[in-house]
Amino acid sequence: MIYFDATATTQARSEVVDTYLKVTSKYWYNPSSAYLGGIEANTIFQDAQNKVKEVLLLSSHEVIFTSGATEANNLAIFGICNQYIGQGMRVITTKIEHPSVYEVFKRLEALGFDVVYLDVDNRGIVDLTQLKKALTKQTILVSIMWVNNIMGAIEPLDEIVKIVKNNPRTLLMVDAVQGMGKISLPTCLKDIDLITLSAHKIEGLKGCGMLLYKKSINLGPHTIGATQQNGLRPGTIDLASAAAGTKALALALSEQDKHQLKVQELASYLRSKLKQIKQVVVNSPLDASPYILNMSIDGWNSETVMHYLEQKGIYVSIGSACNAKIKKPDRVIYEMTKDEKRATSSLRISLSYHNEMWEIDELVNSLKTLLGGK
Ligand code: PMP
Repeated sequence: MIYFDATATTQARSEVVDTYLKVTSKYWYNPSSAYLGGIEANTIFQDAQNKVKEVLLLSSHEVIFTSGATEANNLAIFGICNQYIGQGMRVITTKIEHPSVYEVFKRLEALGFDVVYLDVDNRGIVDLTQLKKALTKQTILVSIMWVNNIMGAIEPLDEIVKIVKNNPRTLLMVDAVQGMGKISLPTCLKDIDLITLSAHKIEGLKGCGMLLYKKSINLGPHTIGATQQNGLRPGTIDLASAAAGTKALALALSEQDKHQLKVQELASYLRSKLKQIKQVVVNSPLDASPYILNMSIDGWNSETVMHYLEQKGIYVSIGSACNAKIKKPDRVIYEMTKDEKRATSSLRISLSYHNEMWEIDELVNSLKTLLGGK
């Protein structure tokens, strides 16, 4: 099987699985317990938190482990809005966020928040002039993703930080899921107030996310109960998950340059090969993350193409969320292209350092056979 869907998930590395097994069998006590077993478990948990901060060079942030980035995004956004509502009700995001951010802002809108959804240009880059205009004294939060999960656009975080920091009362959150461990860290990382990550996108296990937030922030809980993890994520700590997620992050970051170089070569090769198929239009901008290539196929239903490739043993993803009957245009591709047809026929090829050139040949040859290209 040829796997071109690493944006959806990755297979966990053996080192990560080993860490999970070791921690869950050796340190199985409740980290909140006051006797030795619990104290040892709690030490392992603190080590994991410190390691995350160390590898990201984020000494002035707190680390909360969650069940994934979906939960981390919810916790961050509701946690800020609940707490800072007295300072204003304007919140800003983009039209291309992952649903775990976008739908939360939709909920905030329904709750009476004044929500601004920023446009993106035809390269998927957020409109910074709109951002400047939208920022008011009442703006409590701006949430902009780092790398888009559908077409790979890399948002200009350094510029965004500068703009948002002109408004000292506004906090900035970045969904860093698709950039972390894949492309170089932005220099402004330490200036971002809230950052969310997911382990299973970087060869960690499913069910582990992280929220990093500046110590100076008064984040409110979204789930209520006990006092674990600063009271923000109450419930018995999943120590093995935290340790394994930390391992995945540390490994991904330490090998990021090497992996990115290989994926860059694969991406260039894929782009050059796709030029040979006249029905294919590449939606991802040229300067997108090399890990994600989104394309539309003129006159073809993306689901048909996906299943054809599946029969050939090649896994890709359809960019649009469809149910059996209604084909909905992909929100992200539509916002970028303003072309409903392209947004309804989009296909996402995600690369990883495990892929090889011959796999790209297989993919392109299969597409040529299906589409009748030369
Ligand atoms: N944000 C982005 C950009 C993503 O790509 C994803 C995963 N599709 C998430 C958030 C949610 O991550 P998780 O699966 O860990 O909940």
